[in-house]
Amino acid sequence: MEPKQVSSQSGADRKHKQSKKRKGHRRAIPQRTCVGCRTVNPKREMVRIVRAPDGTVDLDSSGKQSGRGAYLCCNRSCWETALKRRSLDHALKVTLDDTTRATLAAYAQTLPETSEIMTPVSDQENH
Ligand SMILES: [Zn+2]
Repeated sequence: MEPKQVSSQSGADRKHKQSKKRKGHRRAIPQRTCVGCRTVNPKREMVRIVRAPDGTVDLDSSGKQSGRGAYLCCNRSCWETALKRRSLDHALKVTLDDTTRATLAAYAQTLPETSEIMTPVSDQENH
C-alpha cells in the first residue's frame, strides 16, 4: 500500500474575483427642458414656474414648491416665446390669466435678453 500523495490543487480554483463595482456614484445633475426654447439645461440654472394645487401659477424661486412645474432659461427671449406660444399653459396644463401673464412678462423684463455670457471687453483699448 503506497500512500498516494494527493497534490492539492492550489491555483486551479483561483477565482478571478475582481467584480468590485465602483461605488463612487456619479453626481447626476438634474436637467430640465425649457418650455421656451426646448433646450435641456441644468435645473439649477433655470427658473421654475409652478402651478399650485389651487390652480394659481407663480414663480418658484426656491424650486421646492409643490405642484406642477415648468422650467425656463434665465433669459427673456425664452419667457416671451413661452408666453407667446402658450407653451407655459401647455406645460402646466392651465390657462394663464392676464394677471399671471403680466407677472411673468414683468419678470421676464428683469432677465437678460439672452443667456450669452458677457465676454470681457479687454482688447478694445485704443492707443
Ligand atoms: Zn430656453
